[in-house]
Formats: sequence, structure tokens, C-alpha cells
Amino acid sequence: MKCSIIRDLLPHYVEAKCRPESEKLVEQHLSTCHGCQELLAELRSDETVAPLPVPAICTEEAVQTDRHVWRKYFGRMIIKGTLLFFAVYIILLMLFHASK
Ligand SMILES: [Zn+2]
Repeated sequence: MKCSIIRDLLPHYVEAKCRPESEKLVEQHLSTCHGCQELLAELRSDETVAPLPVPAICTEEAVQTDRHVWRKYFGRMIIKGTLLFFAVYIILLMLFHASK
């Protein structure tokens, strides 16, 4: 059995989506081929490294980030509002003076 064929099968093998015949072939090959064993280990570690997506709302960290974002957002709004107020105020002053 060629390594390339086994390597095509390995992802399915890791996810247990192989047919029993292919599974046997893969296992037979793995028992003799170090390179494919390493690849299998890599694929398996990839699977375990990838964390299950945790709903963002449930984590304390996410809640804190959320608050932080809100604070930032409102902070900007207040700054923008203040700037806008002064801009309008200055424009009105200028118009007032210009109309004199
Ligand atoms: Zn191999």
C-alpha cells in the first residue's frame, strides 16, 4: 500500500469515517510505516488542539471584553457628542457674529 493512499485516508481514519476495510488497510500500513504514524499523530494532535467553540457570551472573559467594548463605544460617543456640540456652538457663534 502506498503512503499517498494512506495519507488520503488518514483524515477520515482520524474522524472514524472510514469503512472497516479501509480502516484495516490504514492500520496495517501504520504498523509498518513510521512516516504515516507521525502524520496520524499530527492529525490527532490537530484535533485535540482545536478547542470546541465556546459560546462567547458564557465566558467571563468575553463578558469583560464586552463591557470594555461598550465602555469604549460610549466613551467615544460622549467625546464625539461633546465635540459636535462645541462645533455647532462655534458655528452658531460665527453665524451670529457674521449677521451683525
Ligand atoms: Zn506510509
